Amino acid sequence: MKKRWWGIIFTIVSIFFLTACSASDKSQTVNGTGTGKHGNIKVAVTFKGDSIKDIKVLKQNENKVLSKPVYSQLKDTIVAKNSTGVDVVSGSTATSKGYIAAVNDAVKKAGISLKKVKAKTSTTEPKIAKTNNYDVVVVGSGGGGFAAAIEAKQAGKKVAIIEKMPTVGGNTLISGGEMNAPGNWVQKRLGIKGDSVASYYKDTMKGGDNLGDPAMVHILANNALGSAKWLRDDIHVKFLNDQLFQFGGHSYKRALIPVGHTGQELVTKLNAKAKSLNIPIYVNMRAKSLIKKDGRITGVKAQYQGKRNITFKAKNAVILTTGGFGSNGSVKNLV
Ligand SMILES: Cc1cc2nc3c(=O)[nH]c(=O)nc-3n(C[C@H](O)[C@H](O)[C@H](O)COP(=O)(O)OP(=O)(O)OC[C@H]3O[C@@H](n4cnc5c(N)ncnc54)[C@H](O)[C@@H]3O)c2cc1C
Repeated sequence: MKKRWWGIIFTIVSIFFLTACSASDKSQTVNGTGTGKHGNIKVAVTFKGDSIKDIKVLKQNENKVLSKPVYSQLKDTIVAKNSTGVDVVSGSTATSKGYIAAVNDAVKKAGISLKKVKAKTSTTEPKIAKTNNYDVVVVGSGGGGFAAAIEAKQAGKKVAIIEKMPTVGGNTLISGGEMNAPGNWVQKRLGIKGDSVASYYKDTMKGGDNLGDPAMVHILANNALGSAKWLRDDIHVKFLNDQLFQFGGHSYKRALIPVGHTGQELVTKLNAKAKSLNIPIYVNMRAKSLIKKDGRITGVKAQYQGKRNITFKAKNAVILTTGGFGSNGSVKNLV
């Protein structure tokens, strides 16, 4: 009799144990949805028991450049910490929030509570030397920074770009990307006659209440068409062939429109060109001050993710393309 009881107890314990084991080891992939900046983000989350093993994006319509670190770095952090209580990627807040919401939705549908794990140190942090030597260091990765870096590289220089944000592109990325170019090929196609460099110069000065530096505005006006052709022919930016935009204060429809009507087309293509030329881009790298020696600027002191001090020496030049519109705010902070 005693033996039988022991047998029953043993069987119950074994079943309980086996069930518990299989529950905690159970693999499942569950879909979740969250709202990003440009609609829903749909993900498939693979769990093993109460741990996230992988997250795949099934459907999304976010900015390609800005969402890249969300679907890579943020994903790695969520998986490493087994938690959705993580910081958003700066500059990509709405996409990050939508992505996190999608993962949370999948967790809820999976009917689990994520196991707490000790935060692992990030494996994605790049190795960067304390001192780096280049001929030219470009600060900022907007349109200006990419153009400067590509030109310097094609002139045979060793070039690097440093960018304070986690992604490249700056305002250029989120802009409409429309580019004023008097006498452009679409004007010809649409039969728009009479536009000229002189007219563009006049409109630009007037639009800026004549506060613009005439020498600089002349450079802008004289080189606008050549720059647009460079973007079209060398960088392979696609502009619409049958439409132009007329900015306020401009006497003619003279702004070329990139496909997609945003700067994403410009930045994606400039980034691809920089990659093909092997120009290193250090993101999360904020220029903090310029190094001066014998009256010359010889480099930049920067900080990686606000904590590691990194020096970039520049034999020939430091080029500041930090945007900031009329105020040149971030340049003022540097010099
Ligand atoms: C919503 C919007 C729409 C627009 N639409 C148009 C348009 O259709 N046509 C047009 O001609 N203009 C437009 N503009 C203006 C245009 O986007 C900017 O004039 C242009 O992009 C500036 O380019 P940039 O390379 O000088 O600067 P940005 O593209 O702003 O790049 C500067 C980069 O420098 C980085 N940076 C700053 N400080 C530091 C530092 N200390 N260390 C490292 N990196 C740093 C920034 O993070 C940024 O990535 C628009 C702007 C906005 C905001």
